[in-house]
Order: sequence, then structure tokens, then C-alpha cells
Amino acid sequence: MLRYSLNAASSCSTRWQALLNSTAATRDDFLRGYTVVMMSFLPKITGSFSSPAADNPTVAVMEAGYAARNLDIRYINCEVAPERLADAVSGAIAMGWLGFNCSLPHKERIIDHLDELSPSATLIGAVNTVIINEGRLIGENTDGQGFVEALRPVSDPLGARAVIFGAGGAARAIAVELALAGAHSIVIVNRSPAKGEKLADHVNSQTDADCSFLAWTPQFSVPDDSTLAINATSLGFYPDHQETLDVDVESLRPDVIVADVVPNPPETLWLQAAAAAGCATLNGIGMLVNQALVNARLWTGQTLDATVMHQALSKALQIS
Ligand code: NDP
Repeated sequence: MLRYSLNAASSCSTRWQALLNSTAATRDDFLRGYTVVMMSFLPKITGSFSSPAADNPTVAVMEAGYAARNLDIRYINCEVAPERLADAVSGAIAMGWLGFNCSLPHKERIIDHLDELSPSATLIGAVNTVIINEGRLIGENTDGQGFVEALRPVSDPLGARAVIFGAGGAARAIAVELALAGAHSIVIVNRSPAKGEKLADHVNSQTDADCSFLAWTPQFSVPDDSTLAINATSLGFYPDHQETLDVDVESLRPDVIVADVVPNPPETLWLQAAAAAGCATLNGIGMLVNQALVNARLWTGQTLDATVMHQALSKALQIS
């Protein structure tokens, strides 16, 4: 509830009583001359459930975005062990949260607690965003949407011929969203062949994109007709930032867009090698900020300021 705080010297209870009894017009007259501070002591709440949670920078991005739009909404980063997920969900419902993000290890287990899944989340088989609407829980997956939104200004996903390294959660979300956005073909390359084949079969059977698996052989050569090459593995993530993909970078033509999901460091060795080969690059920061923008739209109906959120993330990760 919104409260008015009168911080002028209004001593008398009779004047206060008169204010309470007044019409809107006389109330406005009364308030003129006072400094009226509008305060709410009950912000709306959003947040994240994961474990470990301490290294998740999303809180910095979301709170900067809310503050820049003067929204009285908080984002609370919560450490939630797998066996306490049900309690955390009940708590969020009880406290009237707008919704929450789910990160590892909850992205699949959360589905048991939801009333409804979006088409993307159904196809991806995992949820990273939950919207609470009048007590009903709706699961979305915005990981891949964040990637596609970040890609659009650089290259249209429609008709793309993508090669994706990895077959984990990020790769699955990106493969599905690229397929839904009209990619022509997707090649999955993964260290564990069984996982890679499973993802390729799934995307191939559930979407219109032509999706296949290729074994990750040493110094892997990016297929000639590729227009997009994405690292969706965790290779290169700080503190293992000296690791990179076993790929022959000479096979990258300069017109291939090269992307990385790893946000820290933003310029991974993979992206540095691609830039040296003359390719345009897309780092993991864009995916993270765009995902946060989509989440905020789902929870609040508002579009937050991407530049402010980008700066907040850079500051949080101490990126100059
Ligand atoms: P998963 O654990 O689900 O998958 C990890 C993937 O990386 C698997 O395909 C795994 O291969 C592969 N991998 C790990 N180590 C190696 C290695 N040494 N050599 C080759 N392949 C390897 O993780 P996620 O998919 O959830 O996350 C992947 C990355 O994406 C993380 O760094 C995460 O931070 C980032 N991410 C970024 C987001 C953003 O907004 N920027 C959003 C979501 C994730 P295998 O199957 O063989 O084990």
C-alpha cells in the first residue's frame, strides 16, 4: 500500500483529522506546501533459486534494470539445495513473488512443481524462468531466446546454418530457439556422442530444422557451409579461461558469425581466435542481458534499459 509521509511541521491532530475527512480537492490544497514523499514498504519480489548461487551475477543486472525504470521490485539471489526446492517454491507463492529464475541444478526438477509449460520450455525440456500468476506457476525457458535476441542485430537466424559445440542445457536451449526462429540446419558437436546424438535427434524430430550430430574429432573442421559457429560448452569459463575448443580455426571463413555462451571472461580464447580469423563475434554477455530483458518482460510487462543492465553486468564482473 502506498503511504504519504508529511515531513513538514504539522503538529495538530485536528488538521490531520481534517485531512482524513477532506475531499480529494481540499486534500490537494492541504498537501500543497508540504514535501510529500511517496513510499512503499512492500516491494514486489523476483529472484533466483540455484546451488551454488554465490557466483551468479544476474542480481546485479536485474536490480540495475529495475532501479533505472524506478520500479519498486527486488531480485533476490537464493541458495536453494535440491531437497529444499519444494519449500522455496511454496515460499515464493506464499509471499506473492512475481516469479523467479531457476539455475543449476533445478532447471529440470522444477517442472514437477509447475502448472503449465511454454512451448519452448516443453521442447527444451527445462525451465529457467517461472512466472507466478494468481498462484499458477508457468515455466518458460529464456536461455535460448536471450541468445537469439542477441544474435538478431548481427545476423538473421532465419536460414542460418549453425554448428553448435556442446549438448548441455545451454546448447539445447539455443538449438531449439534457433530452429524455432527458422534456422535452416544445425550441426551438434559434443564430447559425449550419446548426448550429442540425442539432442540432434530431438531437434530434428520436433522442429523444421535439419539437425544432425558430428563426432568431435581432434582439430575439428567447421563445416564449409556454416554461417554461425557457437561455443555452448563451459570451456573457457573463468577460472579455466585458458581452456578453449579443439577446433581448427583456419576452417572458420571470415563471414561466419562466431559466438560464445561464456560470459566471463567475455572475450574468450575462442572469440579471440575467431576475431583474428576475421569473423564477427558475439559474446555471452549479450545472451545474459537479453535473457534478463525477456524475464523482466514476462514478470512485469516492462522493457528494461539494456544499456544500464549491460553496464551493471560489466561492473559486477569487473570487465572494463
Ligand atoms: P551443462 O553442464 O549442461 O553442459 C556442459 C557442456 O559442456 C556439455 O556439452 C559438456 O560436454 C561440455 N563440456 C564441458 N567440459 C568440456 C570439455 N573439457 N571438453 C569438451 N566439452 C566439454 O552446462 P550448461 O549447458 O548449462 O552451460 C554451459 C555454459 O553455458 C556454461 O559456461 C554456462 O555458464 C553458460 N551459460 C551462459 C548463459 C548466458 O546467458 N550467457 C546462459 C546459460 C548458460 P559433455 O556432454 O561431453 O559432458
